[in-house]
Amino acid sequence: MIALRDFESCAFCPKLCRHVCPVAVGTGREAATPTAMMTGPWAWLQGHGDQSLALRSAQLCVDCGACSRACKLQRPVGELLRNVRAQLSEPPSVEALAPIQGIGEYVAVHSDSRDWAAALEAQLDRPVAQVRTSDQLGAAVLDHPSEAETHLARVRAHFAGRTLVLTDRGSWAVAQAAGLQALHLAELISPLDDHAVHHPCSGPRLAGVPASDALACCGAHPGLLQNRPDLAEEMGRAQAQRLGAGPVSSSDSACATHLRACGASVTDPVSWLLGT
Ligand code: SF4
Ligand code: SF4
Repeated sequence: MIALRDFESCAFCPKLCRHVCPVAVGTGREAATPTAMMTGPWAWLQGHGDQSLALRSAQLCVDCGACSRACKLQRPVGELLRNVRAQLSEPPSVEALAPIQGIGEYVAVHSDSRDWAAALEAQLDRPVAQVRTSDQLGAAVLDHPSEAETHLARVRAHFAGRTLVLTDRGSWAVAQAAGLQALHLAELISPLDDHAVHHPCSGPRLAGVPASDALACCGAHPGLLQNRPDLAEEMGRAQAQRLGAGPVSSSDSACATHLRACGASVTDPVSWLLGT
């Protein structure tokens, strides 16, 4: 249930968390501050605003939590805007799960065009099966709890008894929500010391980048890419500029792919494994 009062403190806030919001900073747009994102739904809840404007505001949020961590009131902005999206938008279509190819407890989840299961099999000296996904195992549906449960039941049945080996935040979120065994590829391959990043989303943890220079999202968030690819690209280009000539390492293959497309020089666990 969405309540008007939940949005009020942000709607009347003098943008005190603007500086940590990766969408506000990355795009430089006043319409993309946490205050602005919360004002659209607040106006709609009051009966003054347009429903489509409320949804467009909510779709700007990548749910990174940076504003809540900076906020003296700890307002749960990401969660509130996720609820708005769930209420005002249709659930996204989710691609059918591809058949698992090969045998073995481990299943390499290929979430971009690179094939790395054979290389992992060689490095671990144990069989590794593989599966391909182009929508991060349907991560965008997690915004819609009523639809998500059906999808998660399918995912659970599809991968029952296996351990997923993952490289991106979206697939990781799906595996966690489905209660599946999962490992991040960075945990399995060596050398780890050179690439000490284990978190499934590396936005704030790009190796070699001071925490103060890092933004919590580079724009590779599945929902933002789907709904506002123009802003996702602006964020990626801004992040690439902050990173400089690089190269830097990211533990998340989706972030690395997005940042490379935006001009940054970024390696990820798949490139470490393949030696590319
Ligand atoms: S999260 Fe806190 S700091 Fe940010 S806009 Fe809302 S009230 Fe202001
Ligand atoms: S959760 Fe992240 S993207 Fe959303 S408003 Fe807060 S800082 Fe911005």
